[in-house]
Amino acid sequence: MNLVYRLLLILSLCLCGCAADDDTDTPVRFGDGSVGLLGDGTTGVDSSAESGPASDGGLNDSGTTMADDTPVVERLVDNERIPIDQGVGRVTFDVPQDVISLTVIIHGESNGWYGIDSWIDGDGSALVTADWPSFPGNERGCFSCRNFANQNQGASTTIAPNRDTGTVHPGRHQVNIVGWVDGFAADSARVSVILKRGPRPPENGVLDVNFYFTGAQGWTAESVQTDNYFAATIERFNELYGRIGLTIGDMTYHDIDPALSVVSIAEDDDTLGALMANAVASQTDGLNVFFVDEILTGEPDFPSIPGVAASVPNPPYLPGTVASGVAIATRGPLSVPPGQRFLDPPAIGQTLCHELGHALGMFHTSEYDEVSHDVYDDTPENDNTYLMHADGTGARISPEQARAILVNPAVYHRDPSN
Ligand SMILES: [Zn+2]
Repeated sequence: MNLVYRLLLILSLCLCGCAADDDTDTPVRFGDGSVGLLGDGTTGVDSSAESGPASDGGLNDSGTTMADDTPVVERLVDNERIPIDQGVGRVTFDVPQDVISLTVIIHGESNGWYGIDSWIDGDGSALVTADWPSFPGNERGCFSCRNFANQNQGASTTIAPNRDTGTVHPGRHQVNIVGWVDGFAADSARVSVILKRGPRPPENGVLDVNFYFTGAQGWTAESVQTDNYFAATIERFNELYGRIGLTIGDMTYHDIDPALSVVSIAEDDDTLGALMANAVASQTDGLNVFFVDEILTGEPDFPSIPGVAASVPNPPYLPGTVASGVAIATRGPLSVPPGQRFLDPPAIGQTLCHELGHALGMFHTSEYDEVSHDVYDDTPENDNTYLMHADGTGARISPEQARAILVNPAVYHRDPSN
């Protein structure tokens, strides 16, 4: 199953400007969606979300009413423990009329595998087809489903819509979950369902990021705040993603154990997961980025890579799992002879953009094998001018990719009147 990691390797190159974003507007946080058990009190979780019109707007933490067309997020299911009987657990929840996206997060043991077996939309149709892993062509995830789904170690995240066919409908949804630990069905898993709602899909957004430093690049939580290269790294993100209306908002900085400065994605090596688990120090609801010296692969031919995402997408609002972040190697594969590098050493900002693309839910538009591609109709095959091509040197983001990124609940939206 470590095949997934193999698919998430990266690369790059870059040029940069400078100046970090110091915008201090108040971000929109969770509303007050609460959770109650269904009458039978067993596997179902009922939502208190109203099926009302969009004109109600939403509430942020301070109780301020947001402008009508500012999307907000609410928890429909809040980290509920769902029993898994006969190999399957069931979650049901009610979705309001003004749904923009739904995100299902399933997590449990760090060495367990979790995912969605099926998802029935509010209109009764299948967003994710039951038993999808048994169908040909779904080896890397459910390509045949209306909405892409996959399974992941530690924590699995599925966002709908993540492609143009994945539109979600209001009404009662049912998600069947699966999980395995040590080859046996798990007894239970934790499930969260996050709703993004508003009158129309967002056309821009803000992403908070928590940065973690192992000493790589000589960077510390303090030094990066006046470091020109780090500022240029952030500027690269804002320039590249700015084309789809996405910019970095609040940033936090954390020093962590220097012993984690070299990690490995090799099979049976859990150092990447140990690194990701340090995301517990998060002070925002943003995504988590770890800077290390090197990321080893255990593969003699290509022993070191510039970056890796621990999951695609990363689980929003869930720090501290083995899936909760991305790692970026500031030395890239510099220690490796040029003939054994995936690509030449990338600039850090470009790697950051590519890895955060994974964290936001993007798979490679095309792999190096030139036969494996993503789910989007508008990403040309084997075109490395796209950011999410496996070689990671491009900058282009397609309209379908942009729509999927902006509905991710980690991307939040500000009242334009502020
Ligand atoms: Zn990649």
